[in-house]
Amino acid sequence: MKELIEAILTHGKAINEDVLLVDSFLNHQVDPLLMHHIGETFAAFFRKKEIDRVLTIESSGIAPAAFTAYSLGVPLVIMKKQTSRIMTGDLIQTTVRSFTKGTEYQLTVKREFLPAGERVLFIDDFLASGEAAFGAIELVKEAGATVNGIGIVIEKSFQSGRKRLDALNIPVLSLARIRAMGPEGIEFLE
Ligand code: 5GP
Repeated sequence: MKELIEAILTHGKAINEDVLLVDSFLNHQVDPLLMHHIGETFAAFFRKKEIDRVLTIESSGIAPAAFTAYSLGVPLVIMKKQTSRIMTGDLIQTTVRSFTKGTEYQLTVKREFLPAGERVLFIDDFLASGEAAFGAIELVKEAGATVNGIGIVIEKSFQSGRKRLDALNIPVLSLARIRAMGPEGIEFLE
């Protein structure tokens, strides 16, 4: 997606060869026009998959996922990385290893928000090793629903996630695919 690639080239900072900072438009400050376009692009691609709900992980997936859910006219469900005393009832949980923090967290969702039999579109801001996406797929399976599509805003194609997801035969759309990055700049796949 041209507009997204321009935003990455203008505002993104590769803090090393593995981690890209895009906090000025995607996950700290948010560019609503860009998010609107991202939401419409995901919705157009996945509409024929008859999606019942969009699923994401707090907090950086929320902006693109919310715009996608709005464009598809379906609810958005946000998986939590931390539970609280008010999060009670029938919960589904799985353990995920955080790429950026190097720690593990419990991905949690209320079963009532992930009804069995539904078709789910998982949206996230980044795809690196695929741990977050695999955690989401695991939760959806546990709920008795199915992941009918995966939408990624920025895929770091030089890391293992995309290959791992392709092996599952779930349609994946990544709006920007980074071949390599570092102090000399950022290179994209077609
Ligand atoms: P994975 O689970 O695929 O290894 O990593 C995906 C998750 O880690 C995403 O939800 C995202 O929040 C975070 N992440 C992975 N790589 C990056 C990165 O280069 N920059 C930022 N800001 N977040 C990342």
